[in-house]
Amino acid sequence: EPILQIKNLQKTYPNGVQALKGVSFDVKKGEFLVIIGLSGSGKSTLLRCLNRLHDPTGGEVIFHKEDTTKLSTSSEIRGLRKKIGMIFQHFNLIPRHTVLNNVLMGKLAYTSTWKSILGLFSDSDKAEALKYLKLVGIAEKAHIRADQLSGGQQQRVAIARALTQNPQVLLADEPVASLDPATCHTVMDYLKKVNQELGITVICNLHFLSLVRIYATRVIALKGGELVYEGDPKNIDQAW
Ligand code: ADP
Ligand code: ADP
Repeated sequence: EPILQIKNLQKTYPNGVQALKGVSFDVKKGEFLVIIGLSGSGKSTLLRCLNRLHDPTGGEVIFHKEDTTKLSTSSEIRGLRKKIGMIFQHFNLIPRHTVLNNVLMGKLAYTSTWKSILGLFSDSDKAEALKYLKLVGIAEKAHIRADQLSGGQQQRVAIARALTQNPQVLLADEPVASLDPATCHTVMDYLKKVNQELGITVICNLHFLSLVRIYATRVIALKGGELVYEGDPKNIDQAW
């Protein structure tokens, strides 16, 4: 039973760009699926259509027997984004807040930011945030400002922040594209740990093929908004 079924997914932006031209594939529970493709091939659009950061213009995304493209109220979409978390290329932390506060913010991201501004976090919220910071090896930085950390450290904080929602799926949009090669491996190793130890299904956009072969359990390639390869990372040369 797949955790996600993507059927004929289409996205045409208001300016007429057809970013996805009918993409279909299944995502298996627990897999580490990597999406590859040149810049502009539709990778980021695809991820954003899976958690409704963007609204698809056609097709279906089946998650727990429900077509998420049909969700319409903001509370339904918030609910979806708790179950399908996301991290980004540029980390998107709040720079002048502490690492701990950034992680706690994840718990409130889809409720109210006032609670966080007022510092109304419970001890159990803090303990949970620290648990996730420990998982990504960065608990000792909890009280440092986010903008004092290196890029790789900031991405690990972003992973911890996403985990506070207890997601079943984690979307990673070019998570290592702005990091140096050594740091890429560290961040990817933590994503793998999240995948293996917590059983969270990971769907990750990457453009370094060397990383794909190491981390992916399965690969999908996009070209011009169409799926051109699906299969084993060992054979990705066929994708081009
Ligand atoms: P990738 O992640 O593979 O680089 P994107 O999904 O970002 O590809 O982009 C796919 C296509 O859609 C590109 O032609 C891009 O310029 C276009 N695009 C992306 N976002 C938007 C947007 N918000 N409005 C209009 N066009 C967009
Ligand atoms: P990021 O690193 O956050 O993915 P991008 O440069 O890919 O940054 O995109 C930044 C924003 O611009 C995104 O919201 C994306 O949807 C939008 N965008 C990308 N390409 C286009 C485009 N051709 N026209 C309009 N908006 C675009």
